[in-house]
Amino acid sequence: MNVIEKDQSTASENAVLAQMFELGHEQVVFCNDKATGLRAIIGIHNTVLGPALGGTRMWNYASEEEALRDVMRLSRGMTYKAAVSGLNLGGGKAVIIGDARTQKNEALMRRFGKFVDSLAGKYITAEDVGMTTLDMEYIHNETEHVVGIPETLGGGGDPSPVTAYGVYMGMKASAKQAWGNDLLNGKKIVVQGVGNVGSHLIDYAIKEGAKVWVSDIFEDKIKAITDKYPGVKVLQPHEIFDAEMDIYAPCALGATLNDDTINRLKCQVVSGAANNQLLDEEKHGNLLVEKGIFYAPDFLINAGGVINCFAELEGYNRERAIAKTEHIYDTTLNIYKLAADQGINTNRAAMQLAEKRISDIGKVKLGY
Ligand code: NAD
Repeated sequence: MNVIEKDQSTASENAVLAQMFELGHEQVVFCNDKATGLRAIIGIHNTVLGPALGGTRMWNYASEEEALRDVMRLSRGMTYKAAVSGLNLGGGKAVIIGDARTQKNEALMRRFGKFVDSLAGKYITAEDVGMTTLDMEYIHNETEHVVGIPETLGGGGDPSPVTAYGVYMGMKASAKQAWGNDLLNGKKIVVQGVGNVGSHLIDYAIKEGAKVWVSDIFEDKIKAITDKYPGVKVLQPHEIFDAEMDIYAPCALGATLNDDTINRLKCQVVSGAANNQLLDEEKHGNLLVEKGIFYAPDFLINAGGVINCFAELEGYNRERAIAKTEHIYDTTLNIYKLAADQGINTNRAAMQLAEKRISDIGKVKLGY
């Protein structure tokens, strides 16, 4: 067996390397600590544009393989997100395996912070599902390479409100594309997942006079919303894809756009915060086009959070972060145009724009 054959067989036998090869990852770091019970994976996808920045997700994954798949997909998404948003950042992400409601504590977070620190700035962490600014504060005890720390510590705080603002911008641009104007007044919007981002998105939608329906797997989350906005209606998680609506806003977890759901969806716009909404980017991106649904690419419109985090690295200024996030409106319209001009789906169009930037700026970096 020559060296190449040997390398290929090794990759196919080893699921991690095979996935890294397929998705183009630079590095994957497995973290294990018996004393604190920490089990985490850090995925560093691409650092051509800058350090790999991306949040840490704590989730009760059914298996190690599921956690790995998630971190691989999420970290790759961050590369595209930073690139399409014009940020000098690469893509990375981390997952901590465990129940954020029962298994999280200061020691676990700080131990994770030490692992982040060991990467010497190649990976910068932040918040994602299951994490809070307090967790970022714990992590910050062990490393400088964390953003999303509280404003009292010089950080930008929870990036979720800025993420929600960007999603709102993408939603309005999509409404303009679908209906000729960007007003959400009277539109029926279904928000799936009323957590950090979903709850702020609801705020924007209601202020504009939209009819909002929500769904979540936790009763207390739903109650917090219906207490605040008595006019909001509730759907059970399994009812979402059969409900009549104008806009579906996925703000929970990924892969909710698949063969089953797209064929049931009765909406004209999909615009939400969740990462990796398309189970199969090309197939399901095309299926949405066939169904006449305007899809605002997730990694483009949910970039407000990373824009806010980047602002933190530059010396935090909220107004600047918000102003940059507002550009998502124009970029989304531009993506609809690019997609239509080239006869491709919007996800592909946004990816092309991101890939072009990575390639162009990669060339600049070759010189001194
Ligand atoms: P979160 O954990 O605060 O909220 C997610 C909510 O979804 C929770 O309330 C959860 O109970 C609910 N949920 C989970 N499964 C569900 C289901 N099947 N049906 C209905 N609800 C369900 O997380 P978040 O910070 O609001 O992030 C939401 C999504 O947006 C995630 O995919 C995240 O990766 C993405 N995102 C978040 C940010 C940010 O700034 N927080 C930035 C970019 C992308």
